[in-house]
Amino acid sequence: MTIVDTPERRQLRELTRSFVTREVLPHLAGWERAGEVPRSLHETAAKIGLLGIGFPESVGGSGGDLLDSMVVTEEIIRSGGSSGLVAALFTHGIALPHIVAARNEHLTERYVRPTLAGTMIGALAITEPDGGSDVAGIRTCAVRDGDHYVVNGAKTYITSGIRADFVTTAVCTDFPGSGSLSLLVIDKGSPGFTVGSRLEKLGWHCSDTAELSFVDVRVPVTNRVGPEDTGFLAIMQQFAIERLSLATQAYATAQRCVDLAVRWCRDRSTFGRPLVGRQVVRHKLAEMHSRTDAARAYVHDVAERVAAGQPVVTEVAMAKNVAVATCDWVVDAALQLHGGFGYMRDAEVERHYRDARLLGIGGGTTEIMNEIIAKGMGL
Ligand SMILES: Cc1cc2nc3c(=O)[nH]c(=O)nc-3n(C[C@H](O)[C@H](O)[C@H](O)COP(=O)(O)OP(=O)(O)OC[C@H]3O[C@@H](n4cnc5c(N)ncnc54)[C@H](O)[C@@H]3O)c2cc1C
Repeated sequence: MTIVDTPERRQLRELTRSFVTREVLPHLAGWERAGEVPRSLHETAAKIGLLGIGFPESVGGSGGDLLDSMVVTEEIIRSGGSSGLVAALFTHGIALPHIVAARNEHLTERYVRPTLAGTMIGALAITEPDGGSDVAGIRTCAVRDGDHYVVNGAKTYITSGIRADFVTTAVCTDFPGSGSLSLLVIDKGSPGFTVGSRLEKLGWHCSDTAELSFVDVRVPVTNRVGPEDTGFLAIMQQFAIERLSLATQAYATAQRCVDLAVRWCRDRSTFGRPLVGRQVVRHKLAEMHSRTDAARAYVHDVAERVAAGQPVVTEVAMAKNVAVATCDWVVDAALQLHGGFGYMRDAEVERHYRDARLLGIGGGTTEIMNEIIAKGMGL
């Protein structure tokens, strides 16, 4: 029995699988076309306790730890969901943890509980039009004016930004680019806060993505997460969870593509024989399976160390890069094995091929992960 194969986690898989089968699969193609998932999906997921997995019951969550969240992600994708769906439905996984960690009662009651109950949607806004990798270079600024901050600037590529009721926003509380960052929770509808039109993109079609603009937006000081100028550290601490989530989406997508490819290669015949009857095809499937299993084992190992509180920043970066490289290779091979059908919108593997491309960009790019790894090596 592995760490993610306990009786409780098997139950969690079963719950997730039936949720995906009943509530997601009949509608996913429509949501991909619509460019978003409905709010009602959040409420349904909350009612059965899925939305709150990984958050303590004391803030309205369902309990469980990082590995439980990973089990949910694995099972959503294994059951025919997608990384885009995970991004859209679980955006609170990046929007809330800083607030929870700050143990702020006011912000917990106002934003965390309603979000975990599925009645609010949150987003996290760090990236700006001028750059996303250089977090310390953020130029959106918040200037103190009595018991408010006045915020000016812009954010881009923000997941769930179209639908979000509030945005956990990284702002500079000194001069632009100074690296003195704070996090402010900004309400949709605040005067001067504008949400741009839905951004069209290669994949993650069911996950809405937005540009946000802030012009003299007044935000109460009580909406600051943690003390002033601690935002950079808070962002870096929570990046570990986001990166492991993306690593999980990567190996889970690879696993789903292995499963789809095996099924296809059994059913599809060429020159009078099933594809799986050719040694070259069997070996390709064997390699896809082996690489996926190795990536999963490594990500699980690093996640266990993170859950145990070990300082494994370098290993988290390596886990993300290993899982993403595996996913990129496997989805490409799976699409190729599907032939012309793999290129069709009706083929599930086509969606994974497009969705997977984001995993090496979001939450810190492959190159930025390599910078962290090189630093960990003392280079
Ligand atoms: C679909 C989608 C959803 C997203 N959701 C969110 C969200 O919810 N919230 C949010 O804040 N952001 C979000 N992002 C933004 C994402 O985190 C950034 O795109 C990412 O961090 C890269 O930043 P950038 O696009 O500005 O690229 P840049 O930082 O401009 O980098 C461009 C290229 O240069 C490389 N590069 C940069 N610096 C170095 C260096 N020092 N050495 C070597 N190479 C380097 C990068 O790896 C990249 O290949 C999302 C992006 C996408 C596409």
